[in-house]
Amino acid sequence: MRMLRRTKIVATIGPASASMERLRAMIRAGMDVARLNTSHGTLDEHRGMARLVREAAALEGRPVAVLLDLAGPKIRTGDHAFEGALELRTGATIRVTPRPVPATEERLTIGYDRLLEDVQPGERILLDDGKLELLAAHRDGDDLVCTVVHGGVLAPRRGVHLPETELTAPALTDRDREAIAAGVAEGVDYFAVSFVRDASDVLAAREVMEGLGADIPLVAKIERRQAVEHLDEIAAEADGLMVARGDLGVELAPEEVPVQQRRIIAAAAREMVPVITATQMLESMIEAPRPTRAEASDVANAVWELSDAVMLSGETAVGRYPVEAVAMMDRIIRRAEEASSGTDRDATMAPEHDDHSYVVALAARRIVESDANMRGIACFTRSGYSALLMSKVHPRAPIFGVTHSETVYRRLALARGVVPMLSGAVTTTEELLRVVDDSLLAAGYVERGDEVVVVASLPVRAQGTTNFLKLHRVGDAATYQW
Ligand code: ATP
Ligand code: MG
Ligand code: MG
Repeated sequence: MRMLRRTKIVATIGPASASMERLRAMIRAGMDVARLNTSHGTLDEHRGMARLVREAAALEGRPVAVLLDLAGPKIRTGDHAFEGALELRTGATIRVTPRPVPATEERLTIGYDRLLEDVQPGERILLDDGKLELLAAHRDGDDLVCTVVHGGVLAPRRGVHLPETELTAPALTDRDREAIAAGVAEGVDYFAVSFVRDASDVLAAREVMEGLGADIPLVAKIERRQAVEHLDEIAAEADGLMVARGDLGVELAPEEVPVQQRRIIAAAAREMVPVITATQMLESMIEAPRPTRAEASDVANAVWELSDAVMLSGETAVGRYPVEAVAMMDRIIRRAEEASSGTDRDATMAPEHDDHSYVVALAARRIVESDANMRGIACFTRSGYSALLMSKVHPRAPIFGVTHSETVYRRLALARGVVPMLSGAVTTTEELLRVVDDSLLAAGYVERGDEVVVVASLPVRAQGTTNFLKLHRVGDAATYQW
């Protein structure tokens, strides 16, 4: 049997990947989660794409989750007063205003309503991913008077970062609310919430979603300095985290990014939620058929740090080699996992604790690892919780996440080490073991007579702790007399 890949692959869908043929090729190459970014395109386009991903996954017979990334309040500069380049000279004075004005050398718009209230004198304003830098001096009527610290050419509608400002505007925009409604209607598997400041922003998204009668996991994107400062409360509130290094890398000094990456992964481990490491992972593959050595190392390190998933952005959305980028990521991950001793696991894992479900999961891991004949851990799960928990204790053997819920089946595509399997519903323990046997045998990962550990929550009709662990010989369930 070929080694299963534990770390999952998230791929952003865009013009380069938006066809049935491409999607199917990307799924075959290893895409586990399709990310749709509402920063680009219309909500109707994303709804159509969510359906196309579902169809492609069904045709390939693979679990693929759809993650709808809510754009959030990206702050941008305005349009120019004239055609061509606008040059801001270092040392010059410039006025910025939240009101829409045609940009000139004297005055430009920064599209953040609370600019004048929130930005304090002495704070930095970064334009175009930090290429240009302004320093706020003082307020004058509807303008904030600034000095150009680092000048340069400014194109229209560039991104703005206010890394030193306590932003008071909530992360959820009206368009995000519409996107949540669209995602709920389409039954997406995850939402990602952008530019989260603290737990209240996650909560706000959750309230909107629950108001629509849905219960879809929320991944908080850590991409603001404010979020880094409120990491623990965000991790406690969210159902997953993303190390969103694009915007984070503008707000923080470059040397801070790898440090915060570790911290974010550790916070996810503590809260036992999935974590995605994102942005520029194989960036050069937007143009080239092969990544740089540094990029290959970056992916491998994210694997060794125990990311649940690594993500492709422009590589698959607009790149020339979307399928090759997924295939390359698959190869790098497999090699990194093969070479890993397993000791990195214990360094990055959450401290052990006494919760019964957790102890059962840990026991299952110890048993498979103590016996070379053990093929894996079969986890019968209704809500996905037991399988997620199993994933978070990081066994080296595969976790077969057997569920009768199609939603859980797709959501588990994000969980590290979990092989999602769709089964029929069960009502008794006897049936549960038969269904586990049937699922494992049908998928071909094990043979009749192989040993596995089965974990579940019993009785099967109740929803409770993971309280059942059985050393099991695959195929034996059919012979049991209860
Ligand atoms: P974010 O900060 O949310 O990551 P982004 O602008 O970096 O936003 P990505 O989703 O990371 O966007 O995608 C990388 C690039 O791919 C984008 O800059 C954009 O040019 C392109 N792209 C992504 N999705 C689409 C889409 N649906 N339609 C067109 N272009 C897209
Ligand atoms: Mg964004
Ligand atoms: Mg990006």
